[in-house]
Amino acid sequence: MTAKHILNATGVVPGVAYAPAAWARPRPELPDPNSTISGDRTESEIERLQVAAGQVSDGLKERADHATGHAAEVLLATAKLALDKGWHRTAVKAIRGGSPAESAVVIAIDKFSDMLKSAGGLMAERVTDLEDVRDRVIARLRGEDEPGLPSISSPSILLAEDLAPADTATINPELVVALVTVLGGPTSHTAIIARQLGVPCIVAVGDALRDIPAGELLLVDGAHGTIELHPDEDGAVEAVRIGKELAEQVAKWEGPGRTADGEAVQLLANVGDASTARQAAGGVAEGVGLFRTELSFLSSELEPTIEQQAKAYDEVLKSFPNSKVVIRTLDAGSDKPLAFADLGHEDNPALGVRGLRISRSSGGLMERQLDAVAQAQSEANRDGAKTWVMAPMIATLEEATWFAELCRERGLTPGAMIEVPAAALLSHELMTVLDFVSIGTNDLSQYTMAADRMSPHLAHLTDPWQPAVLRLIDMTCRSGELTDTPVGVCGEAAADPLLACVLVGLGVNSLSAAPTALPAVGAQLAQVTKEQCRAAAEIAINSVDAASAREATAEALGI
Ligand code: PEP
Ligand code: MG
Repeated sequence: MTAKHILNATGVVPGVAYAPAAWARPRPELPDPNSTISGDRTESEIERLQVAAGQVSDGLKERADHATGHAAEVLLATAKLALDKGWHRTAVKAIRGGSPAESAVVIAIDKFSDMLKSAGGLMAERVTDLEDVRDRVIARLRGEDEPGLPSISSPSILLAEDLAPADTATINPELVVALVTVLGGPTSHTAIIARQLGVPCIVAVGDALRDIPAGELLLVDGAHGTIELHPDEDGAVEAVRIGKELAEQVAKWEGPGRTADGEAVQLLANVGDASTARQAAGGVAEGVGLFRTELSFLSSELEPTIEQQAKAYDEVLKSFPNSKVVIRTLDAGSDKPLAFADLGHEDNPALGVRGLRISRSSGGLMERQLDAVAQAQSEANRDGAKTWVMAPMIATLEEATWFAELCRERGLTPGAMIEVPAAALLSHELMTVLDFVSIGTNDLSQYTMAADRMSPHLAHLTDPWQPAVLRLIDMTCRSGELTDTPVGVCGEAAADPLLACVLVGLGVNSLSAAPTALPAVGAQLAQVTKEQCRAAAEIAINSVDAASAREATAEALGI
């Protein structure tokens, strides 16, 4: 018997697929921005640039004509960007200064990307689109095919370095049965779209993926993050059958969240505004575990008034009139800058004045937001239903005490995100002044592992399966037990069905995630007892690294 050849990486969308590999066409090698041309070619180079950009734009528009909804919007936006006057002007200037068209594109797009990156947040996300346009125009200038989706006529597993939004938006899930990328993280664009499409997806495989040739038969397991090369055919077909069965169980699962032996685990929704809350209310969510209030105000130039804020909160509260709703106070700064709560440039914004630190130092911003929440709570008339309020980035007992007093003065139930390691280490003390906590595993992983959650190169570190992160969660749960304080999880970890079992075993009593992720988590919890979860948790926190924690847990639970 030959040894199995398996690659392990970060699984972000569960599901099993067995099919041949197809590679996305690679990005073109970038030309030297310092190349020069002779003066007599200036006008013809400008024309070449305009023709190539026009071809890119037309091609994207044509694809938009055959797409609908979000996919069509993304394609049209990218088509428009290909003709954007701003970068074209800079490119033409570079050609007049002696650059060939290819180099001029690089110079112009680099300039605009730098501007967007320094603006940060959502603006920085546009850099991916701009770089996609750059790569397409360069390919056209060279007479090559544009990078991105290959033409696929039978079910395939799509392999890529990373995918541009314009490509992921047009994936046909009947033909692309799984997605695997060299780069990307659990929050990358590829992962988000794959989750929406329900296509099994694994990211951040690294260099080893590049060695897999097109046509190689692969068995991909999105729940376990494994890619098996040339698997045994019968075994692979059986794995796909079991995967389908699991998907059917998930589709049938209706809640509420509980383990096989009946231990309740509240399954709650992460929402960003009234419309996502209404959608969540139509599904299996038992309430809202994280309302990211800053997402309602990302484009507000001025601080919304108390009335405007109360209206936004009231609409979310009304979506779940009889259930728990956890409102998080503004988590401004770092990757979510708010114009009205901007304290200026910082070299290290993730470690800077963000979250509670901004709300506290911005002349009454926190107090006004809590006034608005209190007003919304009384207007929504939520008889007996719980409105909880928590602050992001709490790191000290003094901060927690200050926040708790402001909440209690307004009749609100105070809690905190546990997303800074200091808060986990001090969780016992924090719980003497707070009524609940919710663990933000996205930031807790980032700060515990000292690894930027936005970096595609560090996804193996910003992994909530890291034993160091699990131990901080364990510590928080122990404090919760000793002080009888509810402990929830509202980071991406709560969306991973296998990890959910470990979290419940550690003592977490509610899990909050994107509403689409909840059925898979609920169906998984329904298969295991609390005791099995406890045993799995013990194994996971004593594992040497994230991959072995995942593997040992799956084995212990027989999944
Ligand atoms: C987290 O950090 O895990 C979290 C839920 O907050 P956000 O992702 O909004 O920073
Ligand atoms: Mg956070």
